[in-house]
Amino acid sequence: MTTFPLASRIALVTGASRGIGYATARALAKLGAHVVAVARTQGGLEELDDEIQKDGGSATLVPLDLTDFDGIARLGAALHERHGKLDILVGNAGVAGPSSPLGHVDLKPWNDVMAVNVTANFQLIRCMEPLLKKSDAGRAVFVTSAAANKALAYVGPYATSKAALEALVRVWANETASTAIRVNLFSPGPIRTRMRATVFPGEDPMTLDTPEQAAEFILPMCTPDWKETGRFYDYPARTLKSFHAPA
Ligand code: NAP
Repeated sequence: MTTFPLASRIALVTGASRGIGYATARALAKLGAHVVAVARTQGGLEELDDEIQKDGGSATLVPLDLTDFDGIARLGAALHERHGKLDILVGNAGVAGPSSPLGHVDLKPWNDVMAVNVTANFQLIRCMEPLLKKSDAGRAVFVTSAAANKALAYVGPYATSKAALEALVRVWANETASTAIRVNLFSPGPIRTRMRATVFPGEDPMTLDTPEQAAEFILPMCTPDWKETGRFYDYPARTLKSFHAPA
């Protein structure tokens, strides 16, 4: 008989309608997790659901704009009512925002990037922490970018938002270090997705790794066997680094 390592575990994946989130959601479901798939695009979520069902897994589709922060709170309440816990949170959804010098970026696109890449993840932490605490082995992984530390020119809002996300996640890892929750960051590097093609239109996508390849490295951080917290997995370098220890 096949054993599924994530059987009876509930996994919330944001940005599950395409790209890295889609591949991660599908891979988690293949390991037996019930996936709660969040994104705005109904068609992408339905395609994911079809594939998960073909694989013999199960999913709940949540068409939600993550900048609807009250919607995130309602999702937390619904998960509490239906499952009473959350085992896995993958904070993957992100937007690239404008590619311009900082002085040319308007306030609205700046705020839009911060809302999805930072504030939505803050709200997910606020709303999902009580549910993750109900799990025997709550696991959270957030998807960041090398842009945060490289301070890449012309993607200022994106780079700044990912640096803020990393600070947020590091703080939460320190705050939860004495609990059963494990909190980590994943930096994918260049992956063949719509976001990458939008920011680097001249690049040949076939030279890049696939979302499925990146997802392979997110999965271990989602399992009860993963004991480390406050770690940063750099996918291109295949290295695992620690955050700074708490003062
Ligand atoms: P993608 O293919 O564009 O996917 C982005 C996902 O985020 C989509 O499912 C999208 O769903 C969701 N999303 C965006 N805004 C949302 C909103 N307001 N509400 C709900 N969902 C929203 O991009 P990707 O490359 O897979 O990116 C995934 C993560 O990896 C991002 O955090 C990105 O910054 C990071 N990353 C990617 C690369 C790369 O090379 N691809 C490199 C470094 C970091 P809807 O549009 O359907 O809502």
